[in-house]
Amino acid sequence: MHHRPGKTTLEDASQIEGGIHPLCEFCRKCFFNGDELYSHMRKKHEECKRNEVRDQYFINYESLERHFNSIHHPCTQKECQAQNFVVFNSPLDLRAHMVEVHGGKHELMRQKGR
Ligand SMILES: [Zn+2]
Ligand SMILES: [Zn+2]
Ligand SMILES: [Zn+2]
Repeated sequence: MHHRPGKTTLEDASQIEGGIHPLCEFCRKCFFNGDELYSHMRKKHEECKRNEVRDQYFINYESLERHFNSIHHPCTQKECQAQNFVVFNSPLDLRAHMVEVHGGKHELMRQKGR
């Protein structure tokens, strides 16, 4: 009987993709089913919780942050960044939040560090 050397090559790996297994596009890693992929995404990557598009994930927090900065209007105050990123859909909403929660003082005070 014919015996093949048991090594996995990159070619072999690329043949797996083909729509049978869901693939994490960030890690290029295959999963057995959508559930596994989903829990991987939630564990290893970041999701935009303010959601205009469902199931939109970002490879890491930095990339999510970039998304926030370009699409949404994140609160830049430390206390809000500390908790899950507080973001708004319009500059007006952000402004209202600033006044309400931070008393608008960030615009008057320039603080370095703490
Ligand atoms: Zn991944
Ligand atoms: Zn978003
Ligand atoms: Zn805030």
